[in-house]
Amino acid sequence: MDNALLSVTGRIFDIQRFSTHDGPGIRTIVFLKGCALRCRWCCNPESQSYDIQQMKQAGTVKTVGRDVTVGEVLQEILRDRPYYRRSGGGVTLSGGESLLQPDFAVALLTACHENGVNTAIETTGFADAAVVERFLPHLDTVLMDIKHMDSRKHAEFTTKPNEKILQNARLIAEKANKLIVRVPVIPGFNDTEEEIGAIAAFTASLPNVNEIHLLPYHRMGRDKYEGLDRPYPMGDVPPPTAEHMNRLMLTAQRYGLTVQIGG
Ligand code: SF4
Repeated sequence: MDNALLSVTGRIFDIQRFSTHDGPGIRTIVFLKGCALRCRWCCNPESQSYDIQQMKQAGTVKTVGRDVTVGEVLQEILRDRPYYRRSGGGVTLSGGESLLQPDFAVALLTACHENGVNTAIETTGFADAAVVERFLPHLDTVLMDIKHMDSRKHAEFTTKPNEKILQNARLIAEKANKLIVRVPVIPGFNDTEEEIGAIAAFTASLPNVNEIHLLPYHRMGRDKYEGLDRPYPMGDVPPPTAEHMNRLMLTAQRYGLTVQIGG
């Protein structure tokens, strides 16, 4: 394998093995550091800043973020190759946002493909189209968030408008091997039937896309905010009920989509 490829460096904050939620089969998830958005409900606040940080968790302070080479990460990924083969799994780049570290992420995806490992990305789609295009030949599956169709509200809750994201969704739908749209369902932001219906209508209008996942808001990242000495932006907002999620699923199904609750 090309040594130049293996020596490209990037910044990650975690690698999780044996995930079954972030793409097909059993997967290794590589979490990249840095994100352009600041979603109020983010359950990985330690992913947002590109800087290496200290975070207190369960009484101990740990360093979040480390610089690694593609070769180092690849070695870790290849440990579970037999599981990928048996389950149809592979590697998923998550974050944070991989599109912010294109040299590293594209090199890693290329190296995975060269070793026969299936690839996926979880992305906000917030990047220039030229950056997105660099990724597409190296991806088997794109899991992309569409959070809201109203750009003003999108910006209010994530700090960024949605025009670029929606344009990139169309680009990815046209050119990617497979695109699955994911919607974090957030009370007070996008959890009405009207709002989910608008996202489902947009999704159904994308070429080659027929699957949408509705991901109910949860509060599992809450202690991390405390550990980073930040207030939790969602306060005491409760997660949506199972009954409400089922209603939203029926709403999205009306657009002819295959709908899944959860990742
Ligand atoms: S896009 Fe994802 S990683 Fe970035 S702030 Fe939002 S929830 Fe967090």
